[in-house]
Amino acid sequence: MLLHLRRAASTKHPRGFAPPSAEELGELRERVQEFARREIPETVASRTDRENEFPVELWKRLGNAGIGLSYAAHSQLCVNQLSLNGSMEQKQRLLPGLVSGDKVGALAMSEHSAGSDVVSMRTTAKATDGGWILNGTKMWITNGPDADYIVVYAKTDTQAGSRGITAFIVEKTFSGFSCMRKLDKLGMRGSNTGELVFDNVFVPRDNLLGKVNEGVRVLMEGLDLERLVLSAGPLG
Ligand SMILES: Cc1cc2nc3c(=O)[nH]c(=O)nc-3n(C[C@H](O)[C@H](O)[C@H](O)COP(=O)(O)OP(=O)(O)OC[C@H]3O[C@@H](n4cnc5c(N)ncnc54)[C@H](O)[C@@H]3O)c2cc1C
Repeated sequence: MLLHLRRAASTKHPRGFAPPSAEELGELRERVQEFARREIPETVASRTDRENEFPVELWKRLGNAGIGLSYAAHSQLCVNQLSLNGSMEQKQRLLPGLVSGDKVGALAMSEHSAGSDVVSMRTTAKATDGGWILNGTKMWITNGPDADYIVVYAKTDTQAGSRGITAFIVEKTFSGFSCMRKLDKLGMRGSNTGELVFDNVFVPRDNLLGKVNEGVRVLMEGLDLERLVLSAGPLG
């Protein structure tokens, strides 16, 4: 009984959620194929593969259809984290632009030497007057080269392991933040992936996401859904 309740509490599905039927899933597949045939003609697909440039003109249409790796990163990795963990002020300030597609979102947890073992990250956030100073780099960040808002994880206590990580919202206009390079990937071309640098980036207190040293809870809560959504890509 307790296990059952715990499972129900950990799901992000709304109360009373009924999983889609096989017919509904078939219909969804058909609609996605129809969208791809109509909106992504061979010329656009081959240009995107060749040049590895995100087709910006498709951004809002991909968003309306709810498909694509860049859209998944925007919606699952950034918007979802803000709606689950943001304060009312943060939601009012950031969500309208993100939901309309006028702003692009990303999430930065991975580093050169911290992938699967993400808790070994080295990016730090030191408390200062009115906020924190971030230093470090993040690797393989989807939408990194384009993002307006990035959910960033950093160590606020380097001695505390998983209990010393905090989530922040970094805005691309913040001084000291930059995308050092866009990666030239073998696959998933056209979905921009970047290496991000935080060089003494001041993050104001208003941009703390959740609580200090409780970033792993924020991170794992998001990963529940993110990994599930993104696993659909490799499965085809
Ligand atoms: C296209 C793309 C987009 C991405 N977008 C983002 C993003 O938006 N934001 C972000 O933060 N990160 C992003 N990432 C990074 C992604 O989260 C990492 O690639 C992932 O966490 C795996 O880390 P890694 O690549 O360092 O692999 P590693 O951790 O080095 O793993 C390599 C292999 O070793 C295996 N392995 C690792 N540890 C163990 C172990 N203890 N025991 C047994 N096997 C093990 C793994 O299963 C894997 O097969 C992206 C990556 C890609 C490829």
